[in-house]
Amino acid sequence: MTRLLEVTNLEQRFDLNTDFLSKLVFEKGRIVKRERIVKAVNGVSFSVGRREVFSIVGESGCGKSTVARTVVKLIEPKGGRICYDGRDLTELSRTEMLPFRKRMQMIFQDPYASLNPRQRVVDILVEPMLFHGITRSSEEAREKALEILNRVGIRPEQASRYPHQFSGGQRQRIGIARALAVEPEFIVADEPVSALDVSIQAQILNLLMDLKEEFSFSYLFIAHDLSVVKHISDNLAVMYLGRMVEKGSKAHIFGNPLHPYTLALFSAIPRISGTKMRTGRNLEGEIPSAIDLPPGCCFHARCPKALPVCREVVPEEREIEPGHFVSCHLFV
Ligand code: SF4
Repeated sequence: MTRLLEVTNLEQRFDLNTDFLSKLVFEKGRIVKRERIVKAVNGVSFSVGRREVFSIVGESGCGKSTVARTVVKLIEPKGGRICYDGRDLTELSRTEMLPFRKRMQMIFQDPYASLNPRQRVVDILVEPMLFHGITRSSEEAREKALEILNRVGIRPEQASRYPHQFSGGQRQRIGIARALAVEPEFIVADEPVSALDVSIQAQILNLLMDLKEEFSFSYLFIAHDLSVVKHISDNLAVMYLGRMVEKGSKAHIFGNPLHPYTLALFSAIPRISGTKMRTGRNLEGEIPSAIDLPPGCCFHARCPKALPVCREVVPEEREIEPGHFVSCHLFV
């Protein structure tokens, strides 16, 4: 059976010098042209099935949010294929993408930045419903918007307020309601809880999982913390510097983590030992620049198990056990 979303060898690049003059630098007494390209996503492949939650985890700057935005074509991919329900999205024009924009919705990390501050929350939902023809009249759209808001925990009497009149958790509920308004089947949630207090995080995660059961959604879930995705994921990938370094089911990643970077992410999670809370061990060193990618394994400068070969040869992805993939020279 085909998977709902199949991403193959996805590439994303950003040119930091957008005009010709900014590419020119003075070096050793002459003017030379220098490109400054951020290689944000480098050959990423994964798939998401129907009713499945696939999570991508990694530190800030690893490219996970860029993958999320590229998959829904908020930014055009620079290489690779994105197949959704058997259709190659990379070939589609803006107009041809419209039906897929309705089917694939996004929830953002910062709901305040993604909600129009001058619109009442009910209108934030009504507008996309009318645009995508979900309802036949604005009255019907308004009625449906109130129902959806109520479903995510925003009472009807709050629907005429503006986004700034809500707390961070409530604004994220409004962001979720806006995604639900156009009856999607696939939701890309880009760090939807990272800006929230821990107690609110659990409420939002529970809401997302309840909605998945109720509406049979599939999720692509982005997070920087493995503990956040533990309970909600079916499958997940760990990403570092634009590459997926380990991929597998929840049982593989949480039961038998293999890649040194995955192990480092686990050791960074705070733990309760006896009656004491132990803070996690931070990964040493800085993530290298995505403008000037290191040769060999992208993790070698920070890896406690690095071998001489790691500095020269990019490790290939290998299937260590059925469905469990690792890119590391320790597993050849
Ligand atoms: Fe560490 Fe080498 Fe494996 Fe990279 S390939 S994670 S540097 S052991």
